[in-house]
Amino acid sequence: MSTSELALLLQHSDTTARSVIQETAAAAGLMWKCRWSLCAEYNIKATELCPHCGRDRDGHPLRDVQPGCWPVEDELWENLRTEVTAHLRQQGFDPLPDAVTFPWVSDEDAAPWSLTRLVLHYGGIQRDYKIHLERTEISDLLEQVAEAAEPSSYEYLRILPR
Ligand SMILES: [Zn+2]
Repeated sequence: MSTSELALLLQHSDTTARSVIQETAAAAGLMWKCRWSLCAEYNIKATELCPHCGRDRDGHPLRDVQPGCWPVEDELWENLRTEVTAHLRQQGFDPLPDAVTFPWVSDEDAAPWSLTRLVLHYGGIQRDYKIHLERTEISDLLEQVAEAAEPSSYEYLRILPR
């Protein structure tokens, strides 16, 4: 069953049928139940973060995601956080988003993460953010993170501004 077929099935079910379908779909691996007890919503398989509360599959709130096989030095990571936060403030984001995700783009560039299409997180809500961060302090720091961490293909980077 495809995601859209499952969505259609849920759309056309009453409350009782809905919970049976959701539980069955979760057992079959087509959905997952948010583990945060205050939320406990069912989400489709492809969703990484719960769109209802913004937590991940383990029920953890949004947090930094450092890609790669090797840990990044704290000082480098905190410099990245400072620059990302300063950038968002300069752009007038108030309140600041809960997190910023730099999606993977290519391993051919010095920094493998997108510098033009980011994702801003506000709890469970995700917004695309188009910007140009080429040749900035942020792109320099991302290059250094890539060099230190040696990320694998398709590993995104997420950082919480502060
Ligand atoms: Zn949730």
